[in-house]
Amino acid sequence: MDYNILIIGGGAWGLSTAYNLSKKGVKNIAVLEKNYIASGQSGHTSAIVRQFYSSEITAKIAQLSLNFFKNFKNNIGYDAKFKQTGLIVVSYDKDSIMNTVNKLTKLDIQYHILDKTSLSNLDPNLNLKEDEVAVYEPEAGYADPIETTWAFAKASKEMGVKILEGEKVVSIQKEDKYVVKTSTKEYKTSKLLIAAGIDSPKIVSNLNINLPIYLIPFPVCYIKRPNNFESLKYVFFDFSVSYYTRPEGEDQIVVGAVHPQMSYSSAEGYEPDEAFHWSKINTEVASRPDYETLKAYTEGLLARFNNLKDVKIVRDLMPYIDITPDWEPIIDEVEEDLFVACGSSGHGFKLSPIVGRILADLISEKEVKFIDINPYSIKRFKL
Ligand SMILES: Cc1cc2nc3c(=O)[nH]c(=O)nc-3n(C[C@H](O)[C@H](O)[C@H](O)COP(=O)(O)OP(=O)(O)OC[C@H]3O[C@@H](n4cnc5c(N)ncnc54)[C@H](O)[C@@H]3O)c2cc1C
Repeated sequence: MDYNILIIGGGAWGLSTAYNLSKKGVKNIAVLEKNYIASGQSGHTSAIVRQFYSSEITAKIAQLSLNFFKNFKNNIGYDAKFKQTGLIVVSYDKDSIMNTVNKLTKLDIQYHILDKTSLSNLDPNLNLKEDEVAVYEPEAGYADPIETTWAFAKASKEMGVKILEGEKVVSIQKEDKYVVKTSTKEYKTSKLLIAAGIDSPKIVSNLNINLPIYLIPFPVCYIKRPNNFESLKYVFFDFSVSYYTRPEGEDQIVVGAVHPQMSYSSAEGYEPDEAFHWSKINTEVASRPDYETLKAYTEGLLARFNNLKDVKIVRDLMPYIDITPDWEPIIDEVEEDLFVACGSSGHGFKLSPIVGRILADLISEKEVKFIDINPYSIKRFKL
């Protein structure tokens, strides 16, 4: 089997790229997915779509992607079920938050600093301490990640892309073309994209390229929404305790981990723990959040909302996310006709519509004109 472009990974990034390439008229594309569509991070994500980033490139891609999500069905023909709920951010780190708000305002991203009255109008039960700041992004919300990823898959299939599930890539070699082997088949391709999430560095290492990727566990739990609890019908980031929440259906709320580097703070000076280097982690083994982490979430929520009397956890999970030392993705041509898109650092879902467009331009035209993607280049790291 010989393809023009082979994509490894049937998540939001791989499938958005397949969709965007097809839209540009590129033919003879296949996607190899070791499991099923959206079985990786794209199926476990909280799918929050917001623009609150201190990194200019990420904020811009988030802005373009959010506009895409708002018109997702018109754009692609299928619904991502995006709900615009607004986002409230609370933190002690007033200076960094205000710097980010100022940067975003220059990019025409709407932000409001909330005083006591405006916060109380949004949610009268949210306690804000004297030394904390609260800001509001009205356009933010969340989508349905499975519907989104499947939308890219369905629209791609309609344009002729072959999506092959249950095809685990076990080796890659460079001959006159790239030769990609799964346990039962062999594929040849002129151009190869590796968008395999947390497994990308292992796959790329077949070609003696060592990516600076670290895999960190990302704890999430689902809590029962108490009867008549009207708070948290929006997305909420509590950086004072380091958790986020968003509604899940009518009767639950998702609670997960958030790090300043995923939002308002640059990762300058951050040194990833070598114990989390990709080569030291067995990605096939799932783990669970510890009780102390969940207790910090529940105690944080109880202290934050006057109208919350108890927190009932209904389930939990702890997938890995793939981060880079600066918490920005790697999107690059790392060798002739070999493209890598990984290290999405816990914010890749929201970026997926535009990441796919970037990769489609990079793969088919070897350059991206509508945005400068240098900050995502592999060359920023000394390998
Ligand atoms: C708990 C959690 C919450 C998150 N919340 C948010 C959020 O609110 N907002 C946001 O923007 N982002 C969020 N993220 C991050 C976001 O989910 C990811 O950045 C995004 O889904 C990455 O998409 P991807 O396509 O790169 O990876 P994936 O969805 O992981 O896709 C990679 C695919 O490659 C396949 N694969 C792996 N190895 C092979 C192989 N050898 N052969 C063939 N196929 C292979 C995998 O099975 C997988 O399906 C969250 C992540 C987690 C884990």
